Amino acid sequence: MRYLSTRGAADTPRLPFCDVLLAGLAPDGGLYVPESYPPLDLPRLRRVLADEGYAAVAYEILSSFIDDIPAEDLRRLCEKAYTAEVFGDAEIVPVSELGDGLWLAHLSNGPTAAFKDLAMQLLGQLFEYELERRQQTLTILGATSGDTGSAAEYAMLGKPSVRVFMLSPQGRMSAFQQAQMFSILDPQIVNIAVPGVFDDSQDLVKEVFADAEFKARHSIGAVNSINVARLLAQVVYYVVAWLRATTDDDQRVSFCVPSGNFGNICAGHIAREMGLPIDRLVLATNENTVLHEFFSTGAYRVRASSETYETSSPSMDISKASNFERFAFDLLGRDQELLRELFGQRLPGSGEFDLSGTAEFAAIPERYGFVSGASSHSDRVRTIREVSEAYGVVIDPHTADGVAVARGLVRDEPMIVLETALPVKFSSTIVEAIGVEPERPDRFAGIEDLPRRVIVLSGGVEQLKAIIESAS
Ligand SMILES: *Cc1c(COP(=O)(O)O)cnc(C)c1O
Repeated sequence: MRYLSTRGAADTPRLPFCDVLLAGLAPDGGLYVPESYPPLDLPRLRRVLADEGYAAVAYEILSSFIDDIPAEDLRRLCEKAYTAEVFGDAEIVPVSELGDGLWLAHLSNGPTAAFKDLAMQLLGQLFEYELERRQQTLTILGATSGDTGSAAEYAMLGKPSVRVFMLSPQGRMSAFQQAQMFSILDPQIVNIAVPGVFDDSQDLVKEVFADAEFKARHSIGAVNSINVARLLAQVVYYVVAWLRATTDDDQRVSFCVPSGNFGNICAGHIAREMGLPIDRLVLATNENTVLHEFFSTGAYRVRASSETYETSSPSMDISKASNFERFAFDLLGRDQELLRELFGQRLPGSGEFDLSGTAEFAAIPERYGFVSGASSHSDRVRTIREVSEAYGVVIDPHTADGVAVARGLVRDEPMIVLETALPVKFSSTIVEAIGVEPERPDRFAGIEDLPRRVIVLSGGVEQLKAIIESAS
């Protein structure tokens, strides 16, 4: 299996997995994608899940995409990433039935209580393995509004070949998220609070990335959702959730995915292309409706940061959907030249392109299964309350966006909503909805009282570079 960039020129060599693992974004600005989607052997995977569990299914699926890590090593990395200790449950991703056709796939039992742990834990293992093999170290620099940063830090903890510098908007993450990140005292993990909004943090990261000499000297890399390894790791839980909700190999289900950067649902698209019997992929947004707008009108229009709302499902507050380019690539017949024009020229120029009226856009629901909807603060709060009253289950605000959209679209088959975080991360919205604090898993007892380490950055990019410099 080789990987190519969505914007690559025809003569660009295709790369093996481990090269794209460490590269992140392609040099031409595109995103790496596998050159094909290998078909799933569903009867075999059903047996593997029953006999050996989640990690073994992960190995089966990942080994069809990764052929430059010896099989026994890859199997061991999957076993280390997906343990009952780390995920608090031997099933790793349990699935439960709410009722009225609605199901939940519980993706948030990992160390930071958000679905990002599932991909990030594997990424941590892959990084450590490959850096060791190459005798290299890596400096991860990123910006987070909450979930990505903490998932990355917990995944890289205790891996001496990786250092993490994570920027976050000062005072903007939930109290729980701040406690989770800032209580990490490991010197390899450096938290940096930046006055301003998320985009101010993001801009500083971009400035450092733009300094090619500095970036190379400190071997700086990224762990954001455009990393192809994260995408592949996410395919696994679609398959496992389907296996757990069905008994028969041609039974269909639909998935509903609370979406921001299109990372999570892009893995659903890949699983469907690999032959998983997915009827519909329901994309749910909050008030930041860039993606709902595309799937309902055909116009993809990125927003200015001033047009991006701060909502009570903050991990879905995006101005553009960085992984959407991968779906657009497939939708447009994998035409790299066209992708270069749309994503390399039109979007940076006018901020939009429009596929309405094209045959490709019209074919989306039938060919790819996508439908979409949007949810608002009041939908979310009402949904949390109604789900709690009807089924006795408390869901987080992001999952509530999913349930709110999914409810109107249930058909005969199971509609599996991906639970993307635990309610404990966003307690103020839960209290608003049901009047009581969400349940707090034991492992998070008292984290607000732990000692903290965080640097407040007031001196802009020069200070940021100095911090990275002095830590090497
Ligand atoms: C990151 C995140 C999302 C959005 O996922 P994308 O891959 O960006 O679409 C939704 N919910 C939670 C809780 C998240 O952390």
